[in-house]
Amino acid sequence: MNAKVRLFVDQPLGAAQPVALTREQAHYLFGVMRLTVGARVALFNGHDGEWQADVAEAGKRGGVLVCREPSQPQSTPPDLWLLFAPIKKARTDFIVEKAVEMGVRRILPVQTAHTNSERIRQDRLQAHAVEAAEQCGGVFVPEVTELAKLDRVLTKWDTQRRIAFCDEALVGETGRLPHAPGAWAILIGPEGGFSDKERRRLRGMACASAISLGPRILRADTAAVAALTLWQSTLGDWA
Ligand code: SAH
Repeated sequence: MNAKVRLFVDQPLGAAQPVALTREQAHYLFGVMRLTVGARVALFNGHDGEWQADVAEAGKRGGVLVCREPSQPQSTPPDLWLLFAPIKKARTDFIVEKAVEMGVRRILPVQTAHTNSERIRQDRLQAHAVEAAEQCGGVFVPEVTELAKLDRVLTKWDTQRRIAFCDEALVGETGRLPHAPGAWAILIGPEGGFSDKERRRLRGMACASAISLGPRILRADTAAVAALTLWQSTLGDWA
């Protein structure tokens, strides 16, 4: 029988591999989920696929699981990054969660001219990404990077990676995603939209394509999900 509880662990997984639990993980499995010795848990670490493991030792402050059999091979989403300007906490959490569910390699919060939040808790957003993967049966957890200024990110940009620049100025106009395979990034602006300077800069980059997300202005969190859907269905792994 396969496990109902899934857990991300930062340790190698493989046949008969013992996995020591942290205090928080032990609390979750034995305190919250009430698992006991012999119970099944599904484990993944982002690179060894998913494994079914049994509880070998269960304590208040720790415990040991032992991997039994593989239950899902490792897979990696297409080479897509999501760049977005952080908004209010709950909406930022939503964007990270949905990006993990939709399948991206990397999540990059960027500070734009009209971004309100000057700080984010990168560790909290990363934990959020782990939780989303745990709950959706995913075996890959995208890295959430520290907040960086959009200007600096664009200055260092590897032009081999195309940018789908979601530009609200194109609302109701045509601005389609080019059918170009390879590495991509989606860029979503903040509630205040992009500044003219940012728009000019992005329009001037050969690797960037200005994209319209239809005839309505969407809020940033909706725009992120819409753009991810558009990309996955035309260039991604939905086919
Ligand atoms: N306050 C701005 C809207 C910002 S919407 C205004 O009224 O113009 C937040 C972000 O979502 C935008 O920066 C853009 O990246 C994306 N977005 C929302 N609707 C869009 C659309 N119809 N086309 C392209 N991008 C859109």
